Amino acid sequence: ESNGTLRPLDASALKVTLTQNPQPVPEVDDPIYKTCSQCTDHMVTAVWNSTTGWGTPELKPYGAFTLMPTASVLHYGTECFEGLKAYRGYDGKLRLFRPDCNAKRMVISSTRVGLPAFDPAEVEKLIISLMEVDGARWLPKSRPGQFLYLRPALIGSHAGLGVGAPKEATLFIISVLFPQMDTVPGGISLLASEDGMVRAWPGGYGYAKVGGNYGGALAAQAEASKRGFTQVLWLLGDECKVTEAGASNFMVVWKTKEGKLQLITAPLGDKIILDGVTRRSVLQLARDRLSSQNGDLEPIEVVEEWFTMDQLLEAYQEGRVLETFAVGTAWFVGAISRIQAGKHELVFSEPAKYATQLKTWLRNIMYGEEDHEWGVVV
Ligand code: PMP
Repeated sequence: ESNGTLRPLDASALKVTLTQNPQPVPEVDDPIYKTCSQCTDHMVTAVWNSTTGWGTPELKPYGAFTLMPTASVLHYGTECFEGLKAYRGYDGKLRLFRPDCNAKRMVISSTRVGLPAFDPAEVEKLIISLMEVDGARWLPKSRPGQFLYLRPALIGSHAGLGVGAPKEATLFIISVLFPQMDTVPGGISLLASEDGMVRAWPGGYGYAKVGGNYGGALAAQAEASKRGFTQVLWLLGDECKVTEAGASNFMVVWKTKEGKLQLITAPLGDKIILDGVTRRSVLQLARDRLSSQNGDLEPIEVVEEWFTMDQLLEAYQEGRVLETFAVGTAWFVGAISRIQAGKHELVFSEPAKYATQLKTWLRNIMYGEEDHEWGVVV
């Protein structure tokens, strides 16, 4: 029985068991990258239970784990996850990009679906531990510009069908080979969600990175793919607010009717939009570096406000939309070439200068070409 003090998650207690059977590291052009299924040699796990708190975290060979068929996650969606990358810099160093933001967001997601809280700094340390062990061989210095995708996740592993917060949860962190995704052949195209299909709603959990948000989006995503689009542009409500693009935040550079140049994106705060690490970084860079003239880029005002598909369409028809782009860990900053919204088509063929500049700044921080506190060296 609990005496009231639950053990906190403690990365310094990490128990390390190295693999006896290291896997060969595939060449960069190996088709295995496209499967997003090849993990590095190790993973981190930690089990929490409601009476004792967090058990000793372990770093051990990557492999399957067992769950009872009654496990909470298999029935009630008690799951949350994170996604970030480890980058092999052009200076030979290995970096994570703002892992503290991912760890903090994970606590927000976890508690939204009845899973335990933890000190995010401990999860950040565990992520770094995994890269300390697997980073050198899986992201060799001979391959600058390569990255690994890191997936921390927390699941309700409690065995029992009573609907309630799970009494046991399992944290795991895996590291996956991912294809380069930041250039989409033919450009990124978006199909605006139709028939009132929404990804997230006021008071819901769009702001949390929980599995249910992604499973629930797959039917619309499949329809978009079938019709030749890269992703869904998620609209919300009768007024068709523009929210997010697939699993990325969505941004527009436009001129207001008054002629003011703005970078606009949907606001956090209604629990609809995911607080993307790329989103907040892009907004910060734009505020810091684009509020006055920068090269041939005119100064721009950054606003986090709702805007509707009608407003975007009107601006487009009046020639006021300069760029639209998606921002997220997968794509970085990806200029949109086409948006289909009902019978309307918006085509962007001019080079996206703001998106390109913002992407360059971010990339330079991730790969060590600019020394910046966001790039955390492993
Ligand atoms: N929105 C959604 C719904 C997402 O799943 C993601 C990916 N995590 C993003 C935005 C972008 O977030 P980030 O920049 O942290 O990858």
